[in-house]
Amino acid sequence: MPKTIIVSNRLPVKVTKQDDAYILSPSEGGLATGLGSIYKQNDNVWLGWPGIEIADKHDQHNVTQQLKELSLLPVFLSQDEINQYYEGFSNEVLWPVFHYYASTYAHYHQANWECYQKVNQKFCDAILKVAKAGDTIWVHDYQLLLLPKLIRDARPDVSIGFFQHIPFPSNEMFRLIPWRNELLEGMLGADLIGFHTFDDVRHFLSAVGRLLPIQVSANIINNGERAVVVEAFAMGIDDKKYAELPLQPNVKAEADLIKETFHNQKLVLSIDRLDYSKGILQRLQAWELLFERHPELITKITLYMIVVPSRDQVPQYKELRDNIDKRVGNINGRYRTLEWSPIQYFYKSFPIETLSALYNTADVCLVTPMRDGMNLVSKEYIASRIHHDGVLILSEMAGASKELIDAVIVNPNNIQEVSNAIVRAINMPKAEQSRRMTLMRQNVTKFNIGHWVKIFMDRLNEVKQMQRSMQ
Ligand code: UDP
Repeated sequence: MPKTIIVSNRLPVKVTKQDDAYILSPSEGGLATGLGSIYKQNDNVWLGWPGIEIADKHDQHNVTQQLKELSLLPVFLSQDEINQYYEGFSNEVLWPVFHYYASTYAHYHQANWECYQKVNQKFCDAILKVAKAGDTIWVHDYQLLLLPKLIRDARPDVSIGFFQHIPFPSNEMFRLIPWRNELLEGMLGADLIGFHTFDDVRHFLSAVGRLLPIQVSANIINNGERAVVVEAFAMGIDDKKYAELPLQPNVKAEADLIKETFHNQKLVLSIDRLDYSKGILQRLQAWELLFERHPELITKITLYMIVVPSRDQVPQYKELRDNIDKRVGNINGRYRTLEWSPIQYFYKSFPIETLSALYNTADVCLVTPMRDGMNLVSKEYIASRIHHDGVLILSEMAGASKELIDAVIVNPNNIQEVSNAIVRAINMPKAEQSRRMTLMRQNVTKFNIGHWVKIFMDRLNEVKQMQRSMQ
């Protein structure tokens, strides 16, 4: 029976070393949950890097055996490969360029590109050991852009889907990359290419049409051998999980405590990973402007700001972290009173129960990235609002803004507008909150993670059938 192979840079598991033993804990992230309906079935498997360097062959063998029980197959990477393929190329070329930060943060080093090619080949070799004719292979994200073509060249008899979880930029950005044609050709090895939004699809089609000698018609690319279909599939979340969590006694207790602490104030929540694309500094500027323009709000409103640590050994990220520390310090120093701080700032991650309690109690969720492929935090807030109240302020630069059109949509560069949106949100009548929230909840429920997986896989089957009928 044909099987399905999921491929991503990271496996959905956390591997830690304790003494001489490796301990595995499966990830509960949304993608892992959604794809669980696939990779845990029959002979299906998920292939990727286990997230930790394991050099010893004996240890590799042991970890491989443990992963096998979870239907996972490891690709082991050396520290050099992590530095060059992952940090050097994926995170210092593709991430900044695809988020429109090419001029500030992109570094184009030939050695990193060579390593990116080498590691994509390494993933391909691992796939070829298990792939058979008729299998379906679903490749995820920007670390593996070359993989679809590598698999296709070696095994033309499989179905290949590719989904990119981050934005695809305008061709004016994309064409800056020295290896732009190779990247596009790599992606075109797939039969179906998916992005979160229609804008990403448009940008990709336009890059292909301008950079490659290939015919593009509507959303179909004919590369001479096969028709490749490019479409938008907006990724959803596990909505049920977020709707059920607030009913758990431990989450309720945490929520009660938060309500009691902030009982005489409006609570505004923001949650991001530390990244320059998230617009954290601009958000803090809007927060400061709020008190300059509305001194009556001093002691009446709190920003609960969680920044999840990420890559803070890398200089640009360390600098961002330092700047956030400074700005939060300045605002708190300027406005705090004995009993109140304008910002409760946390640089750490929290268990999902605490996140749920916060989502459930915050009057407003403030999501203002400069650029974001989708943004799941906004959807998690919506799914947690089981009483249909609360206000989402959402950047128009987040993929989610194309679906959550009943949010208060803002341009994150417009500090004034963001500040005004906060005032509007805390004064929004309950009936309007409920009307907007109900519509957004319908969207998040209907287009959840299960739906996303299903429509992508169904579409991939249809594309294969279409290709056969054209032969
Ligand atoms: N998150 C988490 N721990 C935290 C705070 C957030 O696991 O302490 C999760 C959050 O629930 C969400 C994800 O991190 O699912 C962030 O996803 P998003 O799409 O918003 O941004 P990304 O970090 O993928 O760019």
